[in-house]
Amino acid sequence: MRIWAVANQKGGVGKTTSVVALGGLLAERGKRVLVVDLDPHGSLTSWFGHDPDTISHSVFDLFQYQGKVPEGLPAQLITDTSCEGLSLLPASTALATLERKMVGVEGMGLIISRALAQLWDDFDYVLLDNTPSLGVLMVNALAAAQHLIIPVQTEFLAIKGLERMLHTLEMIMRSQKNPLSYTIVPTLFDRRTQASMKSLNQLRKSYPDSLWRFAIPVDTRFRDASQAGVTPSAFDSETHGVRAYARLLNDLTEAASVRPERRRHG
Ligand code: ADP
Ligand code: MG
Repeated sequence: MRIWAVANQKGGVGKTTSVVALGGLLAERGKRVLVVDLDPHGSLTSWFGHDPDTISHSVFDLFQYQGKVPEGLPAQLITDTSCEGLSLLPASTALATLERKMVGVEGMGLIISRALAQLWDDFDYVLLDNTPSLGVLMVNALAAAQHLIIPVQTEFLAIKGLERMLHTLEMIMRSQKNPLSYTIVPTLFDRRTQASMKSLNQLRKSYPDSLWRFAIPVDTRFRDASQAGVTPSAFDSETHGVRAYARLLNDLTEAASVRPERRRHG
């Protein structure tokens, strides 16, 4: 099982879109894929037609057992999606109350790791979609992930936010035994605008080692796909956006094949 987290402390940068686009492409390539919604807003959950306000079982259930994960529970929470081979562990808006509830609970940062350990043989890839705020959910994602994907909108202010995010990450990772590798992915790129070109050049200068070599272009088909409740590649496999994600996926899987796997938490 390979576990990738998609995170950025800024909203609207393409995190959820990246999770669905990459997850859909992996499933089309015959992989067994699980996407996990760790955002109380539940955009990933809504994408596949569930209402995070009223859903009866979700990731939230995993946090109800004092840091332990009952045997068999994670599998019960998973549902199918419109895409064959792609499963969803949905979010509910109740997740927003976790921060208060989990203070001082032992093992609270390892709940997702423990849940995924139970599913180790059931999935080839797990993609964790994250909330923009750094709290117990994000800590869980960072502890479980083997690699981090950081989508960054190609505009000046977003790059400022990236600096802050990487700083926080470094602090968290210092407390973990294994450092987490990451790939910065420029998103919402529009080559016709000065702002996009300038910020891409800035990113290249500042992060030569961790920046993906291409960028995800602006493509209105992503929104159409989410409205239709299907993955972008199922909606239209030939758009610029989908082709860019396919290229990103090739680079990520190639890099992953030479990276040692992080130890799993039991
Ligand atoms: P996040 O999860 O970081 O908040 P989303 O993936 O939900 O961001 O994207 C925010 C909005 O931008 C959505 O309406 C989505 O459809 C749109 N969007 C995301 N990526 C692109 C893109 N490459 N081109 C055009 N629109 C995009
Ligand atoms: Mg999102």
